[in-house]
Parts: sequence; C-alpha cells; structure tokens
Amino acid sequence: MSAAVKYLRSLLMLELLAGLALTLKHFFKPNITVQFPEEQTPMSNRFRGLHALRRYANGEERCIACKLCEAVCPALAITIDSEERDDGTRRATRYDIDLSKCIYCGFCEEVCPVDSIVMTRHINYHAEERSELLFDKAKLLAHGDALE
Ligand code: SF4
Ligand code: SF4
Repeated sequence: MSAAVKYLRSLLMLELLAGLALTLKHFFKPNITVQFPEEQTPMSNRFRGLHALRRYANGEERCIACKLCEAVCPALAITIDSEERDDGTRRATRYDIDLSKCIYCGFCEEVCPVDSIVMTRHINYHAEERSELLFDKAKLLAHGDALE
C-alpha cells in the first residue's frame, strides 16, 4: 500500500468506520453473556469436577486404602496413609488430593474398586491461596456427604 493511499485511508478514518460497522453488526444480536453463577453454561456428561469421597449407607467410609488411585494418578496428586483396624479391615488415616497438581483425568475414579473416590460435577469452587487447594480426607468426605 502506497504512502498516499495510507494517508487517504487515515484521513477518511476508514479503520474507525470499519470498527464501528462491526460494533453495529453485533449490537442487535442476542446477548450471549451468561449471568454466572445464576446461569450456568451447558456441561458435558463427561465433565469431571471436584472430587469427593463416598460412604456406604450406614456411614462407613467406602475407601479401603488399596492405594490404586494413588498409584495410577499421573500427577502424583494423591497421598494416602493407612492403618489396620482392630477388626482387621484397612482404612485410610490420611487421604489428600493436591488440586494444584490434579489434571482432572479421572483415572482415580475409574480405578477405584469400591466407588469411593468420585469426580462430581461441582465446579463452583475457588482458592485464594495454594494451601486451600489441598483437599484432605475430612473435606473430601464432607463434599461427598453433601452431594450423596
Ligand atoms: S483426576 Fe487424575 S490427576 Fe486428578 S487426582 Fe485423579 S488421577 Fe490424579
Ligand atoms: S479411593 Fe478407592 S482406589 Fe483409592 S485407596 Fe480408596 S479404595 Fe483404593
């Protein structure tokens, strides 16, 4: 583009007019802004949100501390400690998920033999400090209890 044409375009403010025309074109179209959180965007059936630990109907924790989820987690986000109870069963004394590492792949949910760790469709959570993204057993169980 020659300097003369550039000068003429700038003099006639063609870019500005093109921008205004684009604004006008979209001005009367339906508004696609979603008023979150009152309105939610569509969610895939396969969506994986915040984790939860589940219990049986009698209140007993489902997790048997087999550590399959810890082993399969590609992000090394899960940490489990366990102990044997007096009745010979094994239960987790510690179950931590570091959500700052988690990539929400869903492997932990798929591998769990007792449907203990699940990924819910809950997405409305946030953290202001990294430590808030460390979900321990109590938080995960409370989340499961709330959604069960
Ligand atoms: S969703 Fe994937 S990355 Fe996140 S804790 Fe489970 S296995 Fe690990
Ligand atoms: S959540 Fe499931 S896979 Fe993970 S340790 Fe407990 S029983 Fe095993």
